[in-house]
Amino acid sequence: MLVLVVNAGSSSLKSQLIETETGESTMKCLAEKVGLPDGFMNVSFAPDFEKTTYEMPDVTVADCLVKLLEVLGSDPASPVKSLDEIGAIGNRVVHGGEHFSSSVLIDDDVLAKIESCNDLAPLHNPPGLACIYKTRELYPNMPQVAVFDTAFHATMPAKAYMYPIPMEYYKKHAIRRYGFHGTSHGYAARTAAELVGKPVEELGIITCHLGNGGSITAVDGGKSVDTTMGLTPLEGLMMGTRCGDIDPAIIPFLMNKEGLSAAEVDTILNKKSGFLGVSGVSSDMRDVEEAAANGNEDAQLALDMYIYRVQKAIGSYFAILPHTDVIVMTAGVGENSISAREKIFAGLEHLGIKLDAEANNVRGKNTIISAADSSVQICLVAADEEACIANDAAEIVGAL
Ligand code: AMP
Repeated sequence: MLVLVVNAGSSSLKSQLIETETGESTMKCLAEKVGLPDGFMNVSFAPDFEKTTYEMPDVTVADCLVKLLEVLGSDPASPVKSLDEIGAIGNRVVHGGEHFSSSVLIDDDVLAKIESCNDLAPLHNPPGLACIYKTRELYPNMPQVAVFDTAFHATMPAKAYMYPIPMEYYKKHAIRRYGFHGTSHGYAARTAAELVGKPVEELGIITCHLGNGGSITAVDGGKSVDTTMGLTPLEGLMMGTRCGDIDPAIIPFLMNKEGLSAAEVDTILNKKSGFLGVSGVSSDMRDVEEAAANGNEDAQLALDMYIYRVQKAIGSYFAILPHTDVIVMTAGVGENSISAREKIFAGLEHLGIKLDAEANNVRGKNTIISAADSSVQICLVAADEEACIANDAAEIVGAL
């Protein structure tokens, strides 16, 4: 089935056209800086994927999607003659709250439930919903599927997802851990099980999605039993611009000392912290690595903190899983940073976990990178969120 994958962010749109039978992608689109005067959108088609750039000043994410559909329907290089050839739209939805434990066919009831989660993901759910409303308006007969970042974590037990705050806040506002990057963690666990040649049901796996955002999940028998992100994607690891775990008392302390509003502190913790905040250089690990190599001590400290916090999270899941058989590295840093992997695993050798230096000298491939005598196998899995979304959409729509 030909599936249009729509991944709407707060200021970006990623989209691909994927033929699920072959796994082939025939269109790739990336819109960035959406909402800003210098917003733009790159669209490219198979086989060459030569980019055409469209200026998109001061528009919304849904406007970008409308433009993309216009280009898809009219560009002579487009892989489709008519948009009727598309069998389904697969939409990434960041927050499904407690409503969804798997991907679903979108109807009015599903949309109302997603809408009720907007408060939990105010930057991400509204632009995603706006895209769905727009495509439903333009193509009312096109089946649409929602694939949730939170769904994979629906199997977490209450002891993992509850916060030790008064119960009334869970009952009134559904404040609990939800977890994110679920599509990626699920795919990483299943792919790693294939790589080590064992059924996922028999394995204890720690999946490390280390990108600009990052989270680590404990996967027992193929099911998420704990994850580092929480009510929102701010908790857990140190990230590009997000602080991850901090003492919650820092929030009122900062508000009092600096005369800041709650919204201002929220912006600091989400957008000005992490690699960017500590290094003062960049949110991008490559820039921070370069600055550290040139003697910038804050950049070096940011890298050390990042590695340390990843090690702590892996260690804590080692402790709570009944057995840990596999650790998986995926996403931008996990797949590509040979040096970050070296440093993370150098600190875990006392657990018998050993990287094979030669096997680790690789980027973006599905492969095993641990030494033969390692107590735990380490796998590298190339993240492919778009393919997972397309496959879910094809499966659900194919069964109609
Ligand atoms: P993602 O959010 O999955 O796209 O990952 C983005 C992050 O991956 C950024 O911090 C990048 O600096 C990092 N990244 C990508 N390639 C490399 C690389 N070769 N070495 C180190 N970090 C990388």
